[in-house]
Amino acid sequence: MTVPRVQLRPKREKPFLARHPWVFAGAIETIPEHAVDGSEVEVVSATGQFVARGLLNRRSKIQVRLYSWTPERPLDDDFFREKLKQAISFRHDILGLGGKRQACRLVFSEGDGLSGWTVDRFGEFVVMQFTSLAMAQRRERLADLLQELLQPRGIYVRTERGIGLMEGLELQDGLLRGELPPDDWTIEDAGITYRVNLTEGQKTGFYLDQRDNRVAAARYACGRTVLDAFCYSGGFGLQAALAGANSVEAVDVSQPALQLARENAQLNGLTNLEFVQADVFRHLETLVQQKRRFGMVILDPPKFARTKKAIPEAMRGYRRLQTLALRLLEPGGFLVMCCCSGSISMEMLDELLAQTAVSTKREVQLLQRLGQAPDHPIALACPETAYLKCLIGRIF
Ligand code: SAH
Repeated sequence: MTVPRVQLRPKREKPFLARHPWVFAGAIETIPEHAVDGSEVEVVSATGQFVARGLLNRRSKIQVRLYSWTPERPLDDDFFREKLKQAISFRHDILGLGGKRQACRLVFSEGDGLSGWTVDRFGEFVVMQFTSLAMAQRRERLADLLQELLQPRGIYVRTERGIGLMEGLELQDGLLRGELPPDDWTIEDAGITYRVNLTEGQKTGFYLDQRDNRVAAARYACGRTVLDAFCYSGGFGLQAALAGANSVEAVDVSQPALQLARENAQLNGLTNLEFVQADVFRHLETLVQQKRRFGMVILDPPKFARTKKAIPEAMRGYRRLQTLALRLLEPGGFLVMCCCSGSISMEMLDELLAQTAVSTKREVQLLQRLGQAPDHPIALACPETAYLKCLIGRIF
């Protein structure tokens, strides 16, 4: 079967030969009219040389997503089976996250060479997310592969808001295979049991990417008064409490999130946590006014910058949070500052912390610069896959 050929403009093949998987319209000379959105195409240079194989979607800014750099290697079930096998084996056999109650990101889109497809496993249940039309169209076949390689009790599909518009994708959340997880389904992560709601919780139910950062932060928490700002289901605060924190004040604006966090504290028999429903910005201001002091402040806000344009506004938000956190920290206290905006770099956060230290007349020892857990691997060819940053510093 011959595959339609998408031809690039002259001298535009370089990033794709370097295996960046996103081909934008600006790089493309022609797309054959008969090529159907969602179907396989071969991308060739202006001189007709093979570059890569990909999946087409004229409705998206990313017109072709690339998956294979081997000519004659069709993007069929065998291809996806191999990729999926490799992804699962890394999490289960190497990271040791394959237990019946363990949770991990099994497939991280571009990070696993599977642009547009994410799979999170919460014990025996799996949640798939699609950010590309072509992968969403293949959802039944991908579910078959998961069934074959993993035998989950249930496969649920969730879609991110805004993706429908970006990809021309009409997809309803819902059960694709097997059964729904029971309401009280729990997973275990780094020594803590969490209730997870896969159908209604934030993201796909739990922030798996912070697994190692929670443990890293907890190392400094023993004997401290901890403030966990933007706590969601309690991750950082619970881990700190488990590590021997004196007390934990966990703050979130969402009532369902706090409910979950409260239940999680109970499940783990941790009694020294207090939960506050508030806007973090306002709450931190109040705590500063009250002259409260903490031995550790954790900031894990949602994504402030969704686009490059939003960076200045986002940086103002991070600056405000950091300034307030520094005011709340006792001498020798620890700041844990996370940022999941991909367009804001580690260097930008370093610089921000240096500036807020000056403006609050504090001194900072930077102890650790961390990223996302390794079940969210970064594809060096696609720097956009590196999104999570976590700085741990000591403040004097
Ligand atoms: N730290 C969490 C993940 C945080 S996700 C963990 O380890 O799992 C970000 C959280 O910030 C969400 O729960 C969201 O409800 C909350 N949030 C967003 N804006 C907020 C605000 N202005 N004030 C308080 N919480 C906010």
